[in-house]
Formats: sequence, C-alpha cells, structure tokens
Amino acid sequence: MKTVTRSTCCYCGTGCGVLIESVDGRIAGVRGDPDHPANRGQLCSKGMALADTARSTTGRALAPELRVRRGEPRTAVEWPVALDAVAGRFASIVEQHGPDAVAFYVSGQMLTEDYYVFNKLAKGLIGTNNIDSNSRLCMSSAVTAYKMAFGADGPPTCYDDLECARTVLFAGSNAAWAHPVLFRRLEAAKAADPSIRWIVIDPRRTDTAAMADLHLAIEPGTDVALFNGMLHHLIWEGLVDRAFIDQHTEGFQALKAAVRTFTPAIAAELCGIAEADLIQAAEWFGASDAALSLYCMGLNQSSHGTDKNLALINLHLATRQIGKPGAGPFSLTGQPNAMGGREVGGMATMLAAHRDIGNAAEREEVARLWGIEAEALSARPGLSAVDMFDALRAGTIKAVWIVCTNPAHSLPDSTRVREALEKAEFVVVQEAFTQTDTVPYADVLLPAASWGEKSGTVTNSERRISRVHAAVDAPGAAKPDWWIAVQVAQRLERRLGRIPHASRFAFDAPEPIFDEHRRLTEGRDLDIGGLSYALLDARGPQQWPFPAGSAYGQARRYTDGRFATEDGRARFHAPDYQPPADAVNARFPFRLTSGRLRDQWHGMSRTGRSGRLFAHASEPALDMHPGDAARRGLREGDLVRVISRRGELVLPVHASEDVRSGTLFVPMHWNAQFMSSSGINEVSDPAADPRSSQPELKHAAVRVEAVALPWRVVAVRRGDALALQAAVQPLLGACRYAALAIEDDLLIVRAADAAAPAHWLERLYAALGLLPDDDTLEYRDTRRGLDKRARWRDNVIEGFVLAGDTTQADTLLAAVRAREPWRGSRLGAFSAHLAGKIASAPRERIVCSCMQVGATQIQAALARGASVPGLQASLGCGTVCGSCVPELRRMCEAATLAG
Ligand code: SF4
Repeated sequence: MKTVTRSTCCYCGTGCGVLIESVDGRIAGVRGDPDHPANRGQLCSKGMALADTARSTTGRALAPELRVRRGEPRTAVEWPVALDAVAGRFASIVEQHGPDAVAFYVSGQMLTEDYYVFNKLAKGLIGTNNIDSNSRLCMSSAVTAYKMAFGADGPPTCYDDLECARTVLFAGSNAAWAHPVLFRRLEAAKAADPSIRWIVIDPRRTDTAAMADLHLAIEPGTDVALFNGMLHHLIWEGLVDRAFIDQHTEGFQALKAAVRTFTPAIAAELCGIAEADLIQAAEWFGASDAALSLYCMGLNQSSHGTDKNLALINLHLATRQIGKPGAGPFSLTGQPNAMGGREVGGMATMLAAHRDIGNAAEREEVARLWGIEAEALSARPGLSAVDMFDALRAGTIKAVWIVCTNPAHSLPDSTRVREALEKAEFVVVQEAFTQTDTVPYADVLLPAASWGEKSGTVTNSERRISRVHAAVDAPGAAKPDWWIAVQVAQRLERRLGRIPHASRFAFDAPEPIFDEHRRLTEGRDLDIGGLSYALLDARGPQQWPFPAGSAYGQARRYTDGRFATEDGRARFHAPDYQPPADAVNARFPFRLTSGRLRDQWHGMSRTGRSGRLFAHASEPALDMHPGDAARRGLREGDLVRVISRRGELVLPVHASEDVRSGTLFVPMHWNAQFMSSSGINEVSDPAADPRSSQPELKHAAVRVEAVALPWRVVAVRRGDALALQAAVQPLLGACRYAALAIEDDLLIVRAADAAAPAHWLERLYAALGLLPDDDTLEYRDTRRGLDKRARWRDNVIEGFVLAGDTTQADTLLAAVRAREPWRGSRLGAFSAHLAGKIASAPRERIVCSCMQVGATQIQAALARGASVPGLQASLGCGTVCGSCVPELRRMCEAATLAG
C-alpha cells in the first residue's frame, strides 16, 4: 500500500518540506512539499536523492551492541542489557568522580525533542553542563555575536527577505551549493530584477561568486579588516544613519575610534583586494534600500569568528539595514536542527530556552520548571566540543555518549580526537549507521532511528518550526533518540537515588516532550506558548516567537528598533583584525581552506549511500591554482602530501583557477569510510574563538609535497555496492592513498602506495568476491609487479582488479558499464592493446544529477551555440532541482569567452 507522509529534509538548515512516498513499509520516493513555505515544492540534488539513501539496511545499526573488554569485538545484546550497561557505567563514574566526569556530544541533526531530553538528562539529572553539540562547529560564533549585539540569539530575518533585498552580501557562504533551494529563490529574484546587486566575499571563485556583481576574493581570514574598512568608508563619507544610531544603539563612538585606522587602502591591502572594490561594496551596501547579508561557515569557523560576525552586524546597525523587509544579518545554519538545539539549550554554554548558565535567576526558573532543586543545576559552564575531547584525552572526563555525529571525522586535528576516544574509559555511540569513523571506538553501540523513521519537530534557519513525521518503522531494533535517552534517564534516576514521586522523564512519545519544551519558552524571546503539534499539523510550519493567543509567528524581529537588551538598544562592538591562528611561513606556505560540495553532505554517512551523488565529484581532491601547481611540477591527478603542523593526508591535485595563488581547498566530506584517512581534519587547526569556542576549521597553514606512489590499483565490482563498500572499507587505511566511489550498482576502488601492502590484494580479492574460479581470470607477473584479475558472468565482465599497471582501467570500466557480451579472448582483457580494441568511454563528470547530463554533452551543445535556456530545452539539464544551473551558467560564460 502506498502512503505519503509530510516531513522535512534531513540535511541543511534550509529545512525544505518533503513528501515521503512509502510502499509496504519501505521508502520508495521523495518529492518537495509544495505547501512548505521554505521550499514551495523545490528540492536540491541531495534532497532529491533522499529515497536512494533509505532503500537498503546495509550499513544500518540494527541491534544494540556491547563489548565487555577493550580490544574485543562488540556483540549484539537486547535493549535492556545495553541500557543497563550505559546507565550503570555512567552512574558509577558520576558517583566516583562527580558529574563533570561524564559528557554528551550530540548533534544538530537530532530532532528538538531528542535534544530536549538529552539536555535535561545531562543538566537536570546528572548535574553537568558537559553537553555540547556538533553545532559548535557550525554556528556558535553567530549565536555569540547575535547575543552580544542584539541581546538574544536568533536571526532577525526571514526567507521572504531573499526576494525583498536590493543588495545581497554573501559572506563566507557558497549558498549555490550549501543552501541550493534558498539560492534558487535569490536567482529568481535577480532574474526578475537585474538591478539587484550581489556582493560575494569568498577566497574562492565558487558558483555563488561566479554570479556576483562584485566578488571580493579576500585572503582567508581577513573578513574583519574588510568590514572595518567598509565601515570606515561609510562613516567618513557620511553614509551611516545617525538618527538610528543615536536612538537605538550603544557603543558607536568607541567603534568609530576603533575603525579609524582601517582606511579603505589599508583594509584592502590586508585583504589582498583592490581598494576601489572595497569602496564599491561599502557604497552598494550602505546606500541600498535593503541590504541583506547571508553568512555561514566562512565567518563562523574561525578563531575570530565572533569578531567577524560582530563586524558584519556593525555594518547593518550603522546603516539601519535591519528590521525592515529585505535587510538584516542572516546566519544560514548548516544543519537541519542547529536552531532547535539552541532553543532547548542543548549546548555546554547555555540553558533551556535561551537562558544563561551563569544567571542564577534563570537557573532557578529552569529548576522550578523541571521540578528540581536550583542547586542541582551546575553554574559552571560545560566543556565545548574541542575542550571536551581534550579533557577525554587528558582523563578528566572518563565517559562520553556520542549521539548522531561523527567526531573522529568532523572535529579538528583527528589524531588528538582518536587518542581521546582510545583513552576514554567508556564510549557510547548512538548511531543509525555502523561505518562512521567513530563507531569502532564504541564500547556500546545504540542503534538509532534515522530520517523517515521518527517523529518530532525541527527549526530551520528562519526560526520556522516544522513537524517531522515517521513514514516507516525503523529497521531492526533501532529506536528514536529521545526514547533511548528516556530509558537511560529513568534507570539513572533510580541508580542515583533521584527518584521523585514520578519520573521526570515519563515521556512515552515526542509530543509531551515538545509540550514541556514549549512551557519553558513562555515569556522568553523565543516564546512558542501558542504552538502545539495539532496547530503545526493543521496550519503547517510556523516561525517563533509564537506566544499563546497569537495568530501568526513573527517573520522579522526588531522592526521597531527595540532590541532584546535590557535597555532595548543594540550594541556596537569594536573588533580588531587578527590573522588566523595557524601562521603561514616558509615551512607551511599555503593557506588551506575547506568547504562543501554540491552533492555531498557532512561526513557522507547518508549521501555516500547514493551512487548518483558521487557523479558530480567521485574522488576527493586538493584544489590548487595552476600556477602554484606548475611551479611545483605537479600535473592534474598527481598525488601529493598535504602537511600541517598536526598531521598529513594524501590527495590528488586538481588544478583550478577558482582558488587564488597561495590558497588551497579540500572538501570537508571524505573520511575513513571512503578514503585512506579521516580527511581534511587530519591537518586542520583546533584553535578556537575565545568567546564562541568554535574552532578554525576554515584555515590551516600547510605545505604540499609530491609523493611517489608508483604501485597503483583500480578495481571495479558490480553487485550490492553498499555491501561491497562495507567489505572494502577496512582495507583503505593500509594504503597511502585509497578512495571509494559508488556508481549505481558498481563499487570503484582507487588506491596507490610505494609498494603493495602485505596481503592487501588477497584481502581485496576476497572483499570483492574475486576469488579464483572458472569465471575468474588471473594474470600475474611477479617480476614486473603486475597482478590482474577479471570476472565474467554469462560472458559479461562484472568486475576486475588491475594492480601494478592500470592503463586498461578506463577501457575495462567502460566494458563493465556497457554490460555487453565480451568479444574475443578473455586473456585479451589484460592486453596492453585492449585500449585500442574497445571503445573506452570513461564516465564523465555528471553536471546535472537529476537528468544525468554530463559535462561532455553540455560542452558539445555549447559549441553549437546553446545558451542556458537552450541547454535546458535540448538536454533537460537544470530543469528538475536546478542545483546545476549556476554551473551551467559558468560553463556557458566560459564557452562565450573562449569563442
Ligand atoms: Fe535538503 Fe537541499 Fe533543501 Fe537543504 S536545500 S533542506 S539539502 S533539499
């Protein structure tokens, strides 16, 4: 039976509504919800592929697992055994070492109800504030700056401002890839009114930057100098709003004095851009009828992220670009429910409903609402993400419970994080997927329900709360996150002797959790006293604040110029420019930055399950300016070591004009599930902003060295690609470089090393099911280091391994893809002349993942004079989700320039 369930996408903070189609209890399709105000029926390439990622239970955690002793494998156990083990161990550590000896590391991908229970468990039951979230890596600088400037967290803006803005300033945001559906709305607004100006601040020429009227390709980390320089120009040219400043703000004179030295000439020099461009940006921003800034990790992931946010907010306040349609500083959240986590106070530095840990009166309020003694709430802020894992490594924290996140990959300086997890006395990992980099460290693995399988609420970037509904049952014994937390909390209440007349965790469904959360918000800036599941289901997603008695939520905040500070005035702050923490010098001459790709999300534990999401970028790569590559004698595809003060990784070089000389770029996604290392965070810098504790994931000083890895392997196998990937994953770390890609029902393995690691090929043959039999042909030349194997079924080649000499790889891969009967002798498959006998058609990069249109087809159409609309009409690319339209536009512009 087919059913349609209304829910939301589980990836970025846009929070698109989806309609999940399920047939006989299995998710069969996903489409955009036309009634959801965030996306109005649109989805990006990732959202379109959601059903692909939910089709198989391969790689899913299906049963609780427990290991008795380190070094031994975990074994499957029943839920009560696992829950007793977690509660018992946490309780004994708390009794022995105190509440701060345990910690929780949770996730912006959890639902609000999940977050709420974990926060109450840590702070209200155990009495520790050691609960932090991977949102710390995402938006804590934005939170800190909002609170410092406006007196409260949360953006003052809404998505309707995207269409109202006359000037859009993107700061450290490649929205074309990271928030594609919002970008579609911006594109449409600009297409309807080309006088709308876009300014993009980004060291790279991203797809967003390529569409800008003005691209400021600043040196990484120089944002504060840029914003101070822009403000200097606006002040001294009389382009600020003195009346607004006088009536609604504090601190302007101190700021004016502080930016005096940031003349446009000095600021432009610090940023490495032309002074005229800085002045142009300032004037477009200041003189605009409505200037909207959209910012993301480029500002937040910095050791001075709060200053960067404050310097941008200063521009808005000084020019009154706030509190009116189309204007305001708009932090775009990277995760689906980073906002919900902030609302329930699910971080080490905040209490429920935007209350402060350090405020005794607010602690008392929370304690009263939770029915506990005020002293039960710790006044000591907990440890934030990086510090939490450092404390685990130092032994101060003994046990950690990790929920729905993968710190072994996503935290900076992977070596330290791995050491922390190894040294921890007790590690609980609550996960939906078994293959993340963190799962091997779990003493207890708790199987969690995932997207499409659980119910609750999420809040998107514009403060809009949506209902999430389960479309299907969770597989195996997997359970919702809130349920697991409740079960352990009830056990801990008994074990710690904190047994009231009724459990404070007597939740049997998400709705009572939401209702309790709602009560905590009443009277606060985020008051949702007027919301309920019934209202959300009946009237659709709503923005907060939404107090009791309201008919609607509030779209824009501070429209009356009154801010959430005690005196109602916004605060200017005077940030000084500081360079990134990791100094560039002769040993580490490059600035390495990181970011997202269009078709992958975070650590790929979900997007890596869809073959079509690999088609746009099938392998990790280091983007390097062609001049820098040439000076080092590096060619496209050469493998290099990327070395920082903390670690290194090996990657292929991709020469790209999109990065400036001296800057490098690596996508954030790849990790040990798909490559031979934990990826970019092997080298990244854990230095963190002193106020927000957000680490500087966007900047590391590195050097690049060519590496000779002559022993190469290409292997391809048709079958259950997820099962094959799971089988090969344990082999990846043995090679200096290895990467996996999924393509439909194919797994593609690429590996390189100085020489074959011992027994590696035998293990690869076994993992790929290429053991000798009548249909498997072997060729071995020990003297020349060649080892080749291919397998046929019904005379169709269905897999091969080429080791030592991979020159036939493209040709054989084309033959596997073609599924045509093999012609000629089978031994000929290994012949050096094969390339001439079979048409080699290496799969090209797919630009449009919805319509599967490749770069070659598009280039051919462009050579015939096609425009973007012509490409859409003739090839269909860019007509479904639209995520590829910015790239089509760039290709079109490049063809016009070349022609
Ligand atoms: Fe999901 Fe894409 Fe919408 Fe983000 S923009 S919520 S990834 S469909």
